[in-house]
Amino acid sequence: MPKIVIDPERCKGCELCVKACPQAVLGMGKDLNSRGYFYAKVAEPRRCIGCRVCCVTCPDVAIRMLVHGTMIHYFRY
Ligand code: SF4
Ligand code: SF4
Repeated sequence: MPKIVIDPERCKGCELCVKACPQAVLGMGKDLNSRGYFYAKVAEPRRCIGCRVCCVTCPDVAIRMLVHGTMIHYFRY
């Protein structure tokens, strides 16, 4: 199964990924990153179907997917 990886330092806590995920996999954490934002976390990893909607939704490219040992970057900037 694919694994969703969220970079806490890139996340600005906009919650777009949480709302976009059709499986309610993602949620907001209670910790702050170094920029003072609450960041998204993978709350229910077993529910993930690998649809990649979260990866393409994040405006800050904070979400990547690990598939069979390969980290997939959908955008780079
Ligand atoms: S890949 Fe799809 S199901 Fe998995 S966390 Fe992202 S939006 Fe949710
Ligand atoms: S869409 Fe990106 S920036 Fe917004 S909460 Fe999710 S991971 Fe963080």
